[in-house]
Amino acid sequence: MMKFQWFVGFGVLLLLTLFGACQPKPASDTAEPTRFLMVLGVAQDAGYPQTACAKACCQHYWDQETTAKYPACLALVDEARDVFWLFEASPDIKFQLEKIYDQTRITPGKMPAGIFLTHAHIGHYAGLMHFGREVIGADSIPVYVMPRMETFLRSNGPWSQLVDLGNIKLVSLTADSIFWLENQIGVRAFEVPHRDEFSETVGFDIKASDLNFLFIPDIDKWEKWDRDIREEIKAVDYAFVDATFFDNGELPNRDMSEIPHPFVVETISLLDTMESVEKSKVYFMHFNHTNPLLFDESARKRVWEQGFNIAREGARIEF
Ligand SMILES: [Zn+2]
Ligand SMILES: [Zn+2]
Ligand SMILES: [Zn+2]
Repeated sequence: MMKFQWFVGFGVLLLLTLFGACQPKPASDTAEPTRFLMVLGVAQDAGYPQTACAKACCQHYWDQETTAKYPACLALVDEARDVFWLFEASPDIKFQLEKIYDQTRITPGKMPAGIFLTHAHIGHYAGLMHFGREVIGADSIPVYVMPRMETFLRSNGPWSQLVDLGNIKLVSLTADSIFWLENQIGVRAFEVPHRDEFSETVGFDIKASDLNFLFIPDIDKWEKWDRDIREEIKAVDYAFVDATFFDNGELPNRDMSEIPHPFVVETISLLDTMESVEKSKVYFMHFNHTNPLLFDESARKRVWEQGFNIAREGARIEF
């Protein structure tokens, strides 16, 4: 298939060159269409900067020393077929979709072929509101959810209206079984411990061709999970994991040991004995506005020097 596309692409290029009829094209128009996973957001639910934060963390943004970040979101993009899937629907989805339209060969305005949701905390699903009648008025976008999440969306406005009007179509996921979207792209949801007020919380194992991507934007401390994150990392090629907070002491006046997220320094120390090839699979994301990985180069260096990675908006991994 790739060879055929290459051959056709080469033929078209040759014809255009021979007849000299073409205007110079931007590089993106002549490059081969590809399939890739794209990072569309790396911040915690609130995004960065956080609303009404008057502290130094967000002042770095207002002083233009660093850029804004969107809530955690990944996309799988298949340019040749002009389709893409989203993992999470964040409140900043309008900007994240624009990144797809602006930076890939997906047709501008094209709706996602489906949206997978981890849980009912605002940064992960509130962007669904843009598919309703007040905005896009979308038609039957598949939204893949676990059972409690499905009940929550069906039973509470404004989400129930999206279901009633057929803007979205809820599709049930079963934990630990692979949902195949099409040839060679599948998604396995697995439950993780988190504060589950409105829904259960899942992470995803995204299978795309020969690559496996682990996506766990929100989880309690690793010890509270009935699986070993080290084994899960070994089983995949890339792991995007909860890095809400960097370390103890990040939130003055709060006992950080009570905060139910693995700190970046805790994750680094837990994975310390792993081979460097395993460590390099780890991409930290879902940063709270207080997390120095958003604005402090020395914190970022600390992570890189230990052999780990930091997720970056716009980054792509071809599959
Ligand atoms: Zn979150
Ligand atoms: Zn802040
Ligand atoms: Zn959450």
